[in-house]
Amino acid sequence: MRVNYFDQHMIDINISEDKIQRDKKNDIDEKLDIISQYDTENASFINHTLKKAVNYLFQPNIQNTNYLVNEIPNNMSNETIIIYFDSFGESDTISEQLKKIASKVKKMIIVGNHKTRAINDFIFCVNIRNVQKIEKLVKGNDKIQFGFHVNSIDATKYYYSRMKKYFLNVLNQLNDLAVKELKADIEGTCSKILLNVNNFVSHYQTNMANIKLKKMMVVYSRLIKVIGKERLQNQVMFYDLDGQPSDMNIAMLNSISELIYVYQLSNDEERISYVYDKISEQMKEEAQKLQYCHFVNNACVGSRYGSQSFPNSKENGCCANTYLDKGKNCRYLKEDYSCSICSISCRVFTCQYLQERGIDHALWQYPLMDCSIRLFYRHRVVWDFFVPEERMLQRLKHGIQ
Ligand code: SF4
Ligand code: SF4
Repeated sequence: MRVNYFDQHMIDINISEDKIQRDKKNDIDEKLDIISQYDTENASFINHTLKKAVNYLFQPNIQNTNYLVNEIPNNMSNETIIIYFDSFGESDTISEQLKKIASKVKKMIIVGNHKTRAINDFIFCVNIRNVQKIEKLVKGNDKIQFGFHVNSIDATKYYYSRMKKYFLNVLNQLNDLAVKELKADIEGTCSKILLNVNNFVSHYQTNMANIKLKKMMVVYSRLIKVIGKERLQNQVMFYDLDGQPSDMNIAMLNSISELIYVYQLSNDEERISYVYDKISEQMKEEAQKLQYCHFVNNACVGSRYGSQSFPNSKENGCCANTYLDKGKNCRYLKEDYSCSICSISCRVFTCQYLQERGIDHALWQYPLMDCSIRLFYRHRVVWDFFVPEERMLQRLKHGIQ
């Protein structure tokens, strides 16, 4: 099966018949094949984790695309006002598709980083900071529909995007590499590629025209309070006007759907427990699918190759010899090596060894956490290891925003 990974590279993880016929000059498969003959430290990271990460990152491609629409839904009428999150930056152009959607409704308010201005009597562009202007425009009895142009959202800071950038850069370097060069020093080349500091997202420029997800969700939650539930048309529409949805768009779409669900829960306890469960599930799924700790005979990759001082034990990774349980396994580690308390701080932790190789999470890198829990409370839990879920929920309860 050939898949278009990272929207750029056609790679075949399961070697297929047409492999022989492909151009070898830019063939990553061939280089991955060569590396797969080696189980040295960094070659084995590429063999073991890179392929799993690539597969994992592209899972969202197959989820939820039915929520994406390019046409106006039937339930909209000339009594509907649509608040549409999209951003043009400095550009003055409104696409034909947007004009088409606007022509079917009473009013369209396009919210983004652009200047506030009226295009005509029905289409208004409003800067995202100018929430009062939006509130003024939606006064009345009309029905309100929200729309999101998923391609217009800046997700650079989120874990999915960061991991994608990291592994994409690793693949790009492999792509540009001559086979001869790789063969000359396989482990050295793998190490150089993986540890390249330019792999990290801080080295990529963000598109200033794009809307920050958090800013958008803060405006959304304020508006739904002002507008009132009775005026909201049930469904929120996600527009993907640019053709094929990318994996990043789908990941954003999933996150926005979850956030909208959280904002609609009336009780803070329900909200925080939903956020906690979702993030814990996601982190667990990621750890299981990527198996980034890569245990061999109970020794994790960090204890086999990482710094001498961490993890503290040669066996059972960082669930052993903790500061609470010196010289033995953590009291919450079960016999089957699972954790009995679902500690969110433990789940989000990855050691320096993994962080240097693109597996680097933080709670704020999860859109659900970033947009629903106040910064101060998120910071408080970062080092709160070994704390059971119930106690952590109590601590986070007052941080819901
Ligand atoms: S995060 Fe912990 S268990 Fe995983 S590799 Fe690092 S030290 Fe080992
Ligand atoms: S509490 Fe943390 S250290 Fe203890 S078993 Fe669970 S994940 Fe491991």
